[in-house]
Amino acid sequence: MRCELGRCPESATHLVHIWFPDALDETWRVCRAHDRYLKVAFSRSRPRPTPSCRQCDQPLNEPVTDAQDEVSQPCPYCGSVKRHIRVRLYDFANAYEVIRRQAKQPGKGGWLRDTTSGDDYTRDLGAWGHRTVDYDHEHNQYRELIKLYDGSQLESTAMLDNHHD
Ligand SMILES: [Zn+2]
Ligand SMILES: [Zn+2]
Repeated sequence: MRCELGRCPESATHLVHIWFPDALDETWRVCRAHDRYLKVAFSRSRPRPTPSCRQCDQPLNEPVTDAQDEVSQPCPYCGSVKRHIRVRLYDFANAYEVIRRQAKQPGKGGWLRDTTSGDDYTRDLGAWGHRTVDYDHEHNQYRELIKLYDGSQLESTAMLDNHHD
């Protein structure tokens, strides 16, 4: 099967499912490059969190640059460089917490599963959310789930052999 995006000649190796809180679901069968493209497009399509001044609490019209809470531009109201990032976290409570977990199959040696999950601001996706990546070497499965703070979700699955960075 061919990749469904544009006139891409690559074969579809990834199944991407996207849920929105306010629109119909989308399902795409795409190549590895367009899998990456969809993740970025998805993240950028959603509304952004708003930074506000930590000292005087004024909402500020400036981009969220990363998870750092100090910025170089002082607040125009009070001069503080401390910021809050206001986001509503839906179904994940442990913001800022990153869990890295590896499970070892007894007797065989070698790491079989490598799971990374946590709430983080990812510069490559340009979004704040919760991201779980599961590399299952035993079943040759790759699965990534991205939940954005507004409740929208993207799930990408593929055979691990087809998921090259
Ligand atoms: Zn493609
Ligand atoms: Zn201020």
